[in-house]
Amino acid sequence: MSDCIFCKLANGEIPTTMVYQNEFAAAFNDASPLAPVHVLVVPKNHHDNMLDGVDAQTFMAMVDCVEQVVELTGIQNSGFRVLTNVGADAGQTVNHLHWHVLGGKRLSDSLA
Ligand code: AMP
Ligand code: ZN
Repeated sequence: MSDCIFCKLANGEIPTTMVYQNEFAAAFNDASPLAPVHVLVVPKNHHDNMLDGVDAQTFMAMVDCVEQVVELTGIQNSGFRVLTNVGADAGQTVNHLHWHVLGGKRLSDSLA
């Protein structure tokens, strides 16, 4: 997807604060953070969302990113949240699969 901003960020075509990356996924800071730690984990290949034909290797690469992000940011013991919005009603604004990793403060009790 040549016009997808997250494809470009994940593959280093646009500079960003890369927190961690592996062969298949990347983790960079959200541009409008909602918590002291707000990192986006995205696959390097384009998928619209988590139901868009994502293979197990890619999912595992994303899980590796989460593990590394929470350790690097020091929130692995205090608690954190991982969420993904799918579709307009859920608030998805960027149509490239991304997991929000949120932490570093007491998070809202409400998920919806
Ligand atoms: P969502 O609403 O779940 O689609 O989340 C999209 C997220 O991407 C929002 O939290 C935005 O702040 C974030 N975002 C949008 N553009 C950029 C960008 N260029 N770099 C980093 N984060 C971005
Ligand atoms: Zn993309």
